[in-house]
Amino acid sequence: MARVYNFSAGPAVLPEEVLQEAADEMLDYRGSGMSVMEMSHRSKVYDDIIKEAEKDFRELLGVPDNYKVLFLQGGASQQFAAIPMNLMKNKKAGYVITGQWAKKAYQEAKIYGEAVELASSADKTFSYIPDCSDLPITDDMDYVYICENNTIYGTKFHELPNTKGRDLVADVSSCFLSEPMDIAKYALVYGGVQKNVGPAGVVIDIIREDLITDDCLPGTPTMLKFKTQADNDSLYNTPPCYGIYICGKVFKWIKNMGGLSVMKQRNEEKAKILYDFLDESRLFKGTVRKEDRSLMNVPFVTGDEELDKKFVAESKAAGLENLKGHRSVGGMRASIYNAMPKAGVEKLVEFMQDFEKKNA
Ligand SMILES: *Cc1c(COP(=O)(O)O)cnc(C)c1O
Repeated sequence: MARVYNFSAGPAVLPEEVLQEAADEMLDYRGSGMSVMEMSHRSKVYDDIIKEAEKDFRELLGVPDNYKVLFLQGGASQQFAAIPMNLMKNKKAGYVITGQWAKKAYQEAKIYGEAVELASSADKTFSYIPDCSDLPITDDMDYVYICENNTIYGTKFHELPNTKGRDLVADVSSCFLSEPMDIAKYALVYGGVQKNVGPAGVVIDIIREDLITDDCLPGTPTMLKFKTQADNDSLYNTPPCYGIYICGKVFKWIKNMGGLSVMKQRNEEKAKILYDFLDESRLFKGTVRKEDRSLMNVPFVTGDEELDKKFVAESKAAGLENLKGHRSVGGMRASIYNAMPKAGVEKLVEFMQDFEKKNA
C-alpha cells in the first residue's frame, strides 16, 4: 500500500485511522452481520449511528440548544437555492462576493428575490476579503450571506461582517471543524462535508430554530424545506447513510485529538510552515493578502506558467498529489485540511526548496 500526500481541495484527504476503521467494519458492522451500506436507515443500529454523530458534532462545535443540526444531500450547491427559499420572507438579502462559491450562491438567490451585492473582491481576483465593517445593509434584508473560507482563492474571513442586526448565513464548506466557531453569531451555518469532514454526498446545516417554519417561498419542494428535514430528524427520506457514518468517525477522531482548539493549533502550525516558506522564497509567491490568508487552502504561483506546469508534474511524481490550482486561477494550490499530517506539509516545503534551487 502506498498512500500519497493528497492536497486535493475536495473531495479531500481523510484521517487514515478513520478509513482503516471503516475498512475493518466493512463486511460486518459490530456484529450486525452487514455493512452500514446495507442496513435500513430505520434500524436501531443505524439510528444509533446518526444520533451519535449528531451528538458528537454538537459537542465539538458547542451548538446551542436552539439550533437544529441537519444532515442533508445535494451538496453545498443545493443550499444556494434552499436558503433563499426558506429564509427570504421579504425577498431581499445581501451577499458579500468573495469568490466563485459566493457568486454562485448570489446568482441562485436572484432567481427567488432581490439579492444585493454588498461588497466584492472581484477587482483583484478575489485575493482579499473586503472591508465589511459598514456594508450597505438595509432593515428589509432577510439575511447577510458570506462564504467564510474561499476554497479556490485561499482567503478567509478572520472577522465576521457587521450585519447591522440582520441574520448571518455562512457557507463554511472548506473550513468546517478546522477551528472553534461561535455558532450563536450565525443564523445558519452550512457546509458540504467533502472538503474537511467526510465523503461527498452529505451537507450539514446548523439552523436557528425560529427560522425553521412552514413559511417558505411558494413552490419550495418538500425536500428543500428545512421544516420537513427538521421535523423528521434528517430521516424524512433515506439519508446518505454511509457518508454520515464516516462523518461520525471523523467527529470521534477530532474529539480524540482534543477537539477544535487543538485542530486550530495544528492547522496554524501546518499553515505557518508553508506561508513562512512562501514569504521568503525567491521563486514562489502566495497570491493572497497576508491578513486574509486561509489555514486550509494555500494558492501560490511562480509567475511563469510553464514552470508552474513543471512543478505540478514533478511534485506528482514525488508523491505530492493534486497541487494544480483551480482551473479559473491557474498556478498551484495546496489544500491542507485537518487530515493532512504535518509531515505532508514539511515534505511539500522540502520539495519546493529543492525545486527552487534547480529552477530559480
Ligand atoms: C466545494 C464548495 C462548494 C460546492 O460544494 P458542492 O457540494 O459540490 O455543491 C460550495 N462552497 C464552498 C466554499 C466550497 O468549497
